[in-house]
Amino acid sequence: MEPKFRIGQTVYKAGTTNKATTMLCPVCAGNQKVLLVLGNGDEVAIDCDYCSRESADMPLGYIRGPYEISPDVRELWIHGIKMTLRAVQYTEGTDNAYSTYDEDELFGTYEEALEACAKLVAFRQKKDEEELARKFKIDKSYSWNVGHAMQQLVNLERQKIYYEKKIEILGKHVRGKK
Ligand SMILES: [Zn+2]
Repeated sequence: MEPKFRIGQTVYKAGTTNKATTMLCPVCAGNQKVLLVLGNGDEVAIDCDYCSRESADMPLGYIRGPYEISPDVRELWIHGIKMTLRAVQYTEGTDNAYSTYDEDELFGTYEEALEACAKLVAFRQKKDEEELARKFKIDKSYSWNVGHAMQQLVNLERQKIYYEKKIEILGKHVRGKK
């Protein structure tokens, strides 16, 4: 295997910079709570589950947005070549502190590297979109969470009705005794 580049050559590394962004939670709009309106018109606030997903169950009011992924070309100077049977790698830096690069991330010209960056940007954007779609889809666990909160309220409501009836019956009973 012949190395593509030689020691002392200036090469260009194709990469990306990824900037994290946040966006307002589309479910609670930053309020960290969602309001449940019960059948009888009562309103109950419960913690927003949607923006709790990346924060150990603490609603934040915002969620992670898509990464701002930009092309990043870096100029390097090859200091060393590492060859194995399967791959050629290049190093930049001194013996104590050097970085290692695979041959397929380096290019002979700036233009070639920039072209490779465009492909990397598209690839990483797609991966990020997939991850976001997976992480923030409204799924069963979310409806379960709302359902669970509602179930507890329904149970409370049932108890209330039960006690009200009991009181009513008791009242009738007392009245009947008179
Ligand atoms: Zn939220």
